[in-house]
Amino acid sequence: MWDAGIVMSDQGDQNKDYDAVVAGAGPAGSTAALKLSEAGFSTLMIDPKMEIGAPVICADLVNLSFPDFREIAEDKRIVLSRPAHVELKSGSNSLKFFPSGKEGDAFNSVVERDRLDKEMASRAIMSGARLKIRTELIGASEENDIIEVSYKTGGKTIKVRTRNLIVATGFQGQVNNWSRDTTTAYSFDFRRKISPNENATPVIELRSDHSLNYNVPRNNGQTNCIMINEGSGKVESVPESIIKGAGSIIRGSKHLLLPKDVNFGQGRILYAGSAAGLYDRFFMSGFREAVFSGSLAANAIIESGEGSLESYRQNLEKHVYQGMEVQKRFRDALYRSGTEKIHELFLKLSEFEYNEVSVLELINRSGFSINEIENILGIETS
Ligand SMILES: Cc1cc2nc3c(=O)[nH]c(=O)nc-3n(C[C@H](O)[C@H](O)[C@H](O)COP(=O)(O)OP(=O)(O)OC[C@H]3O[C@@H](n4cnc5c(N)ncnc54)[C@H](O)[C@@H]3O)c2cc1C
Repeated sequence: MWDAGIVMSDQGDQNKDYDAVVAGAGPAGSTAALKLSEAGFSTLMIDPKMEIGAPVICADLVNLSFPDFREIAEDKRIVLSRPAHVELKSGSNSLKFFPSGKEGDAFNSVVERDRLDKEMASRAIMSGARLKIRTELIGASEENDIIEVSYKTGGKTIKVRTRNLIVATGFQGQVNNWSRDTTTAYSFDFRRKISPNENATPVIELRSDHSLNYNVPRNNGQTNCIMINEGSGKVESVPESIIKGAGSIIRGSKHLLLPKDVNFGQGRILYAGSAAGLYDRFFMSGFREAVFSGSLAANAIIESGEGSLESYRQNLEKHVYQGMEVQKRFRDALYRSGTEKIHELFLKLSEFEYNEVSVLELINRSGFSINEIENILGIETS
């Protein structure tokens, strides 16, 4: 079913189909578009933004330890600092995590995220991908291995044909026309404020109302935001004073959706990054997972030829989903239990040293199984 309105072919490319269409020019989309165009695929990337990377949705603490990111990781305009550790707080208890520098760590750099996103999109364009801004994916249907993609640009609806579609539309892309009916969503309006702060350690604090407070110092101030989580149920349940006290905000409203389920797509339509539901809010792993899944999606397309894209889903399930599943259960356990229980868990975990930031690693090193953690927290997860 196509959207009502003027329907026409893409006038810039009369009757021209693309080997691949990538919706979303965030880290997942730009990574996929770069790989696809490098492999010689004619690639169209679309994004509703006027300016890539703006507004940015990030607390600026990301992992840049990928082989492909060596040059970016050296770029001082993008990387602002490399924190020695991150502090995870719950009440008066706290845990320290140190980046090992290993690929796969959740963080190692405080970045200027909008510049990073622009740089990544530029690389995709330089390698031959075409980017259309102010252009929004509104629908897609697949028949006989051909996908008809529908997007809106300049008030018009355009249709193009492609063999491959990667949906990397982030959280926001779950809204309206491009929503997956299985998604239960919580919505937020993200605003970011930089204010002077000498504090050198990034702190992630689980607050008694179950919201998360990210406080990430940068060399010119700090990024400070509150994220309201599933456990708190209602956005309205977070008092205004807490939001104000934090200095800046992720506030309940209609812009940002957090998917509950992880889904890598169907047929020749693949989801990557946050659009696939990949993001552990507790450990800020979104950027890493976006790059990883965008890259895997492109590789699956490049390698599959006329074949199916099952390998992508299998790979993701093997490498990401299983890990995410444990993390999700752990996080859900934290959010659903009382703060007293969480403090108790923190106390027990404080006996251990952590050199890598991932919940899986945390569980491994704590020596607790997920069941034991659930016992400590006094709850059961499915
Ligand atoms: C408040 C908050 C703080 C975060 N902090 C961190 C952090 O510190 N570290 C970290 O690693 N991760 C963090 N994340 C996770 C963050 O989402 C990822 O870092 C990363 O941005 C995910 O990349 P992505 O490409 O999947 O999605 P996004 O970066 O969200 O990019 C999606 C793109 O798709 C576009 N789009 C939306 N709808 C459509 C459509 N219909 N058609 C076409 N394009 C569309 C958007 O305009 C956007 O440019 C945070 C997330 C939130 C919500």
